[in-house]
Amino acid sequence: MLTGFKRLVLMASFLASPALGADCGAVDFMTLPLPSGGDPAETALRVAYPGLTIDAGKVTLPGGATFLMGEDSSRAPADRLADPSLREQFHDVYPLAFDLAARETPWFDPGRPRVEAFFQALYGESEAAVRDRLEKAAIKGKATFLMNGQHGVACQMATALAAVEALSIDWSPFFKDVGGSFAWRPIAGTKRLSAHSYGIAFDLNAELGGYWRWSDRAEGDAGAYDNKIPQEIVEVFERFGFIWGGKWHHFDGMHFEYRPELILHARLMAR
Ligand SMILES: [Zn+2]
Repeated sequence: MLTGFKRLVLMASFLASPALGADCGAVDFMTLPLPSGGDPAETALRVAYPGLTIDAGKVTLPGGATFLMGEDSSRAPADRLADPSLREQFHDVYPLAFDLAARETPWFDPGRPRVEAFFQALYGESEAAVRDRLEKAAIKGKATFLMNGQHGVACQMATALAAVEALSIDWSPFFKDVGGSFAWRPIAGTKRLSAHSYGIAFDLNAELGGYWRWSDRAEGDAGAYDNKIPQEIVEVFERFGFIWGGKWHHFDGMHFEYRPELILHARLMAR
C-alpha cells in the first residue's frame, strides 16, 4: 500500500515524464555535448550514429558497410542532388533558427541530397528489410506513425510526439489526416528513393503543409510560400533529430525526416 505522499510523488513523476518514449533513452540533439575540433561533417556523423567510424575519409557503419566521405564539388545543385557524396549532404547548412529567409535562395535544400546506399545500409536495403524493423509511435488519439527501430529513430519519434502533446498550443490539426510515414517509393517526379522508404520520414496534415510540386512552382524557382506549421512543433522535432522540409527551397512543409547529423553539423558550424 502506498502512502499518500508516495502516491503523489509517483503521480508527479508520471505527469512529468510522458508515457511514450520516456524510458527509451532518446537524445536531445540541441543540448547533447559536442566534441571540439575536427571536421564538422565527420564529427556530426560520428555523434549522430554511434558506432560509425571515419578514418582518412573512409566511413564504416556499425554493420560493416563502408563509404567514402568524398568531396563537396562546385557542380550544379541539380547534379549534386541526383548523386551526392556523403560530404555534399552537408553542402547547405541546415538553419536552426525558425527563419524562412534562407530557403528563398534557389536550391538551398539542406537534407534533400541523400546517398541512397548509405541510408539503405543504415535502415534496410529492401522494402521487406525496412518493414521488418518498423515500430509504432503514436500521438494521443490522433495518429500512429511507423518508424524504423534502427539507430533509435522510433524512440526519438515517440519522445518527440510526447513532447508535442505537452505543448501549450493546439497541435491537433497538424496531426489530423496525416500524410503518413513508411512507404517504399520514389520521390514524386524522380527515380530517387524517398526518405519515407527507410522509415525515417513522416508527413503531417498535407492540407496545412504546402509542397512546391503542388504549387505550380518551377524547380529552382520555388519562391516564398505561406507556412502554417507552428515554430513550436518544428522545434520539438528538430530537438529529437528530425529536420523539416519547410526550410527547403523546394519546400515540403508537411515533411520531417530523421537527420540528426544535419542538426549537429549546424550546431558545430555555428561555433
Ligand atoms: Zn514526406
